[in-house]
Amino acid sequence: MDTTADLLFLNEEVALRINPFSEGEYLVIQTHPQEKSLKVSKRSFDYESAKKYCELENLGHDYATFELRIFHDGNLWTVDASGNRRRISQQQDWKVAPQYLEAIHDNDNHGEIIVCFCSYPYFHGVTAQISGSGEVVEFWHSVTCLVDDHGREIHSCPNCHISLVDELDDDSDDFYQQITQPAVCIGCANYHGQEYAEELLICAIHPYGWDGVSCPDFTESDNNKLDKTVK
Ligand SMILES: [Zn+2]
Repeated sequence: MDTTADLLFLNEEVALRINPFSEGEYLVIQTHPQEKSLKVSKRSFDYESAKKYCELENLGHDYATFELRIFHDGNLWTVDASGNRRRISQQQDWKVAPQYLEAIHDNDNHGEIIVCFCSYPYFHGVTAQISGSGEVVEFWHSVTCLVDDHGREIHSCPNCHISLVDELDDDSDDFYQQITQPAVCIGCANYHGQEYAEELLICAIHPYGWDGVSCPDFTESDNNKLDKTVK
């Protein structure tokens, strides 16, 4: 007899999240904006249908980007134009250890899970220590929080190696120097431009950028808003 849990697997939404991925399975995943856990829109063993679905998702969403991945040997991989495995994906099905998920709901814990631009989640929290003069000194630091790798203090993202210190430091230009903005995108509100070791996401509308002198989707950016975000 079917239990309630068995019936849940018949619901596609639930099955997308619960059923383990299989070797050679294609996954259409949301790569922007990043979420705390992998957002899978479609699973299929058929490359053409997965690719088609991915294209439609990108056309149907103005503020989200979807990409195709293939599951191999426990990891997500990017695919080439024929659907063959290319290289290991920045986005993976990261599993955050339960104690960190509990910690973010605990108001006394002063910690949060931050998702790197590359999809990697880490824990940014405060630790209290007693100084030599007996005072309680609190300091913030970032630690790994995955089930199979947690509690390690980190200063850069273990996945894409971007500096986490610079990201949080207003005085440093290093973080912004890692961003390369095409001339056609300067001043455009849609520009995202986060460079990964693997790929550069220009914007949600044209993930690989616009190949011309003027982009049809150019939207004047609100400079005041931009200043608030950067500072
Ligand atoms: Zn990263």
